[in-house]
Amino acid sequence: MGAVATVSFQQAREIVAERVKALRERPRVERVGLMEAAGRVLAVDVEADRDYPAEPRSMRDGFAVRAGDLPGVLIVTGEVRAGQACRVEVGPGEAVEIMTGATVPRGADAVVMVEHVRREGAALTVDRSLRDGENVNGRGCDAEEGEILLKAGVRIGTSETALLATLGCAEVEVFAKPRVAILATGDELVELDRQPAPHQIRNSNSWSLAVQVVRAGGEAFILGVAPDDLEETAHMVEDGLRFDLLLLSGGVSAGKYDVVELALARFGAEFYFDRVKLQPGQPCVFGRANGRFFFGLPGNPASTMVCFETLARAAVELLGGQEESLLKLTQAPLAAPFRHKAGLTRFLPARLGEDGRLTHVKWSGSGDVPALARANCLLVADAQKEEYAEGEMIGVLLP
Ligand code: AMP
Ligand code: MG
Repeated sequence: MGAVATVSFQQAREIVAERVKALRERPRVERVGLMEAAGRVLAVDVEADRDYPAEPRSMRDGFAVRAGDLPGVLIVTGEVRAGQACRVEVGPGEAVEIMTGATVPRGADAVVMVEHVRREGAALTVDRSLRDGENVNGRGCDAEEGEILLKAGVRIGTSETALLATLGCAEVEVFAKPRVAILATGDELVELDRQPAPHQIRNSNSWSLAVQVVRAGGEAFILGVAPDDLEETAHMVEDGLRFDLLLLSGGVSAGKYDVVELALARFGAEFYFDRVKLQPGQPCVFGRANGRFFFGLPGNPASTMVCFETLARAAVELLGGQEESLLKLTQAPLAAPFRHKAGLTRFLPARLGEDGRLTHVKWSGSGDVPALARANCLLVADAQKEEYAEGEMIGVLLP
């Protein structure tokens, strides 16, 4: 089968996002408890049920005062604690003792820290002046009642959970997870419960892909291994095309027994690209057949992993109702010089240290799974730039 379309890495990303957004259906909505909502995609906008804070709050332990009275000597007339309804007021020349998180009494407009006063009985001496509003969070300064604080389509992480709890959402409406089928191909593969002969290897891609799918918010279904045979592969592909997304590994190169594209073509496949200027993972296929999206990922474990992370992951996230799918890209200075051949965007195993410097992990090629396990991120080398000096900034893709 001849090449359909070779695209740059950036083009491939754009095609995946554009096609999936254009053709996806809105996922089903489920109501789940707050703990189950972590990692899921919010299905509705969530608004503030009241002002936050609902009353002006003290940010410090100290004394509620009128800023205009300072510096000076004030009379302490009472106390207000956190969690206590505030019934006192602050008149001219007065102060009320206050704790962090307590409601600032009417009449007061600032809080002087306990460290900044001298108290003798009811007399409070303050030698400094305060800004109007100093150490006070005004009513509604975090959010106003009715304000939308979370939009449908965001993935719920730690801070979103804190916010949902703040808003009293013990249950949350989230989108159903996309169902993702995983089909490995290759006559050389055996499953984990079998001892491979010297000419065989264990099927690791189905497992790494399943973990990647779950991390991207999908539900993974491992369909087993298709042999390098067109009829049998087509049969298993037909099953896989009943899911929201089908991920295949292997069988998309130019080899005589690479039959995946031929098998997909039997189901009227439309191929949006079948080669990406990306390494590892040039022969990477994306398309649609029987009304479902598929990826044909190259079989070398690093290629499978990188193509999923950089391209297929976006499809899983968007099919799951996520509004946008962004790569966690950043930059770090190199611990040693790096060079590569221009023309391909490269994603290579690397380690980011606590000193913020990036070290390229030595490897023997894209079948070197132990090297992948020594890495904690991927180095991203620009397709246009051949040489990087020690200390020079280079791209990093975080897991
Ligand atoms: P392919 O893309 O089918 O040409 O596969 C390239 C190489 O990747 C094969 O020679 C295998 O060494 C390796 N490979 C393919 N599929 C898997 C798999 N499921 N698990 C581990 N390695 C694989
Ligand atoms: Mg193969």
